[in-house]
Amino acid sequence: MTFSESEPRLLARVLGATLDGLGGRRVRVEADVAPVLPGFSLVGLAGASLRESRERIGRALHNSGFQWPEGRITVSLAPADLRKDGAAMDLSIAVAILLASGQLRRPGADRLRRTLFVAELALDGVLRPARGVVAMALDAPRLGVDSVVVARAQLAELREVGNVRVEGLEHLRDLPDLLRSLSSPPAVRPAPAGQGAADLEHGLADARAALGMIRGQERALRAVLVAAAGGHHLFLQGPPGCGKTLLARALGHLLPPLTGEAALARRRIHSCAGLLAPPPGPVAAPLRAPHHSTTAAGLLGGGLPVRPGEITLAHGGLLLLDEVAEFPARVLDRLREPLSDGVVRLVRGNERVEFPARMQLVATANPCPCGWYSSALDRCRCAPTVVDRYRARLSGPLRDRFDLWVEMDREPASHYLEAQASQQLGGWIEKARQLRASGRPFLQGDELLRACALDRSAREFVAGVADRQGCSVRALASALRVARTLADLQGRESVDLSTLAEAFSFRPVA
Ligand SMILES: [Zn+2]
Repeated sequence: MTFSESEPRLLARVLGATLDGLGGRRVRVEADVAPVLPGFSLVGLAGASLRESRERIGRALHNSGFQWPEGRITVSLAPADLRKDGAAMDLSIAVAILLASGQLRRPGADRLRRTLFVAELALDGVLRPARGVVAMALDAPRLGVDSVVVARAQLAELREVGNVRVEGLEHLRDLPDLLRSLSSPPAVRPAPAGQGAADLEHGLADARAALGMIRGQERALRAVLVAAAGGHHLFLQGPPGCGKTLLARALGHLLPPLTGEAALARRRIHSCAGLLAPPPGPVAAPLRAPHHSTTAAGLLGGGLPVRPGEITLAHGGLLLLDEVAEFPARVLDRLREPLSDGVVRLVRGNERVEFPARMQLVATANPCPCGWYSSALDRCRCAPTVVDRYRARLSGPLRDRFDLWVEMDREPASHYLEAQASQQLGGWIEKARQLRASGRPFLQGDELLRACALDRSAREFVAGVADRQGCSVRALASALRVARTLADLQGRESVDLSTLAEAFSFRPVA
C-alpha cells in the first residue's frame, strides 16, 4: 500500500501488558505510519526479546494475509520508564500497526481502551501462550480493563478468572472478526466464590497411602504429623535407606488443598514462572523439590526478565531440599531471609522485585559423607574433621530455623513385616489436616504465651531449659509453637510439662 500527503494519518492506540514481579502492568502501545522512507523504530525501554519483534511480527502479518506497511513505522511503548520484556507484547504491537495502516477497522464503543492484547506471535501468524497471562487477567480490574485477548491455547488456564471477559484467538487472520465481536459489551462473570470445607477430603487417600508405606520410625512420623498440623520447618537426618525422603514427601500429601485466594496465588505464580497454571478450584499445595545442582537464581528467583524461583513456586506449600548438605552453603544462607519474612527480595540492576515465599521447609541429610555416623547398624568411615566440615555446611543460624529436628536410624529389616505405626498416629492424619486448613495465625510474643496457657511449673521448666541451653528468643518461640501444635493434636486446652518436654526434644542439636 502507498500513501499520499492528502490522506489523513492514523495514530493507533492499543493496550498490551508486561509483568512487573508477579503483577501485570498496563502498557500503552502507539503506532504511527509516516509516508517517508521505510523504517521501523520501537521506543520506550524495550528489552532484547521485544527489540527482535520487528522480524517476528513482519512475518506473522505477511503469513496472515496482511501487509507490512510501507513508510516509516514508529511504535512507542508507555510508560517510558517501565522496562518491557518478553514476546507477550507481540500481539498488541501487531494490532496497533494494522490499525495505524488502515488494515483493520477499529471496534466501536471505544472498546480498545478497555481491552488488553497479550500473546506471542509465531512466524506463521499463530498466537502463542504468553508467560504471566493469568496474573494479567487477574489484575484486569486494577488495570482498568474488562476484556483480555489471549492465545486460544491458553483459554483453559484462564477459566474462572472472574470480573473479566477473556477472548481466545487462534490465528492473526481471525483478528477482524474478533474486533467486531469486541464491539458488543462484555458479559463479565463475577469472581468464583471460595471453596468449602468439603474440599478437605481432596487428597486424603493419598496421605493415608503415603504414610501407610512407612514401617517403624514412630518419632519421625510423629514429627511429620506435627509439622503438617502447624506448618513447622522439619529436618530429617539419617543414614541412606532409613526412609527420610519418603517421610518428607509424605508431608506434602498431608497438606490440605489450597482454596480461594491461596489457590489463585498459586495459579498466578505458576503462570509468571512460565509453567502451566493449575486449573481452577482447589489445587494441591505445591511440593517443590529442586536438585542440589539448582542455581541460586533457580532456587530464589532471578534472570532477565526476573522470574520467580523454586522458593516462590513452593509458596503456600512445601520446599523439599533433599540431601541439603550438597547444596552450596552460599545458596542455603540466602534462605534465611525468606524463612523469616515470607518474601524473597531480588535486585536486578535498578529493579527491585519482591516475590512471596511463605513456604514450609523440609530438609533431609546424611549425618556424614558416608552416611553411617551415629548409626547402630553400621560403622562410620569418615575422619572426624570431615564429619565436622560436612555438618558445618548448614550454618548455625539456618539450623536454628528448623522447628523439628529428627535424627533417624535405619530400622532393622524385620520391622518391615510388622503392622503400621500405632492407631493413634492414624487418627492424627485427619486432625493434622483440619488444624492446618483452619489457617491459624502464626502466633508470636504475648499471643503465643497466652495460647500456651503455661502454669507455674511449665513456666519454670521453660526458663530452666532456656538458661541451660542458652536458647535464643527465636528458638524458645519455635519450641512453644511446636508444643501448642502437639497440645492441639491431643485436644488439650493448655500446654503441659510433658508436651513442653517433647517440643524441646525436637530442637536442633547444636
Ligand atoms: Zn561417615
